[in-house]
Amino acid sequence: MANWDAVVIGLGGVGSAAAHHLAARGCRVLGLDQHPRGHTLGSSHGKTRIIRQAYFEHPSYVPLLCRAYQLWQELELASGRQLYHPTGLVELGPADGVVIPGVLRSAAEHALAIEALSVDEVTRRWPGLAGPRLREHGGLRAVIEKDAGYLRVEDCVETHLQLAERAGATLRHVRPVRHWRTNGQAVEVTTDEGIEHAARLVIAGGPWSGRLLSSLGIPLRVLRKYQYWYQPKSPGYAQSDGFPCFFHETPSGYFYGFPDIGSEGLKVARHSGGTAVESPTSPHPRDRDEQRRIEDYLNGYLPGVGDQLKTQTGCYYTTTPDEHFIVDLLPNARQVAVIAGLSGHGFKFTSVLGELASQLAIDGATTLDTSLLRIGR
Ligand SMILES: Cc1cc2nc3c(=O)[nH]c(=O)nc-3n(C[C@H](O)[C@H](O)[C@H](O)COP(=O)(O)OP(=O)(O)OC[C@H]3O[C@@H](n4cnc5c(N)ncnc54)[C@H](O)[C@@H]3O)c2cc1C
Repeated sequence: MANWDAVVIGLGGVGSAAAHHLAARGCRVLGLDQHPRGHTLGSSHGKTRIIRQAYFEHPSYVPLLCRAYQLWQELELASGRQLYHPTGLVELGPADGVVIPGVLRSAAEHALAIEALSVDEVTRRWPGLAGPRLREHGGLRAVIEKDAGYLRVEDCVETHLQLAERAGATLRHVRPVRHWRTNGQAVEVTTDEGIEHAARLVIAGGPWSGRLLSSLGIPLRVLRKYQYWYQPKSPGYAQSDGFPCFFHETPSGYFYGFPDIGSEGLKVARHSGGTAVESPTSPHPRDRDEQRRIEDYLNGYLPGVGDQLKTQTGCYYTTTPDEHFIVDLLPNARQVAVIAGLSGHGFKFTSVLGELASQLAIDGATTLDTSLLRIGR
């Protein structure tokens, strides 16, 4: 006899949202996480995450993003806390690259409001982006998505957890799941405290998902990534100056960043690259080569930032071979929903992924099209 309607393994970005949506639909929910509440050992920390709709990765994500925006707004209303900060997002890259054609395709297919900008307009509006290497390569294009911005990542997770508890969920931290199995009807989840019986299971283990799904042969690669905060040496980089978030396809990779928010410093990181690791371990060692790449990017493209590093943090991407998420029921265990392999671009979706996880677990299907994200694609 199941003592829970659903158990959620992992209470990070996805699992916190799944616990909230399951509890809001009246389920008796147990959420389990191996680490303390608010930990910085996985993938959902580092102050900010970009959120945008004209998705260069694939137009199929756009309906999910529209719903994600609605759900972030609902979460803000329910909690009285600002989570989404609209700053606009400037995207730069070659006309025949990946980012600009992808943005234009998604915007055209879904009638999204984006504005094409010349390089002159970009440097006139934001002189902080007028680095010496900006015009090195011909054919550079720019767009601004005004309805893009950033989410406060830790606040989003904590708000989902609080609303889950308010709706009746039981959440246990520092409670690692050692093992889970199904008997065709229900699910057994083993922790050091004993066995929990549930009708449904949601697996949202982030960079530890490979271990939780080891018998299923889902190929997930864990990459160590870094985020850096620099103290600008020139004015014009602050959010209060109107400096936007940015995403830049350059000959040496994809770089992105955020305005200087308050006194945090300008945050910058490289989306491409990363170091493959066997399993997530902490603390993250310093990576001088990565820091050099970041400072080389700043010197070339954001000339007034300088190299006064304020702080840095490591984090993990969990990538699938095609870098699309996994959002599905397990083919051989329909009681088990898996949301994994967010491939370094999933936080903005966590509000809707929580809703989709609850639909998979309760209804066995989702209201939005997730065929791109099926396990057997
Ligand atoms: C540097 C960096 C920058 C990023 N930038 C962006 C961005 O700008 N925009 C964007 O949309 N996305 C971005 N992402 C991606 C996004 O942050 C991740 O896709 C998302 O946070 C992943 O959430 P998750 O729930 O899968 O993993 P996590 O938040 O790590 O949660 C997994 C949880 O599962 C728990 N767990 C695992 N195994 C067990 C077990 N056996 N028992 C109990 N608990 C367990 C872990 O302790 C952890 O709390 C970025 C990621 C990184 C690393």
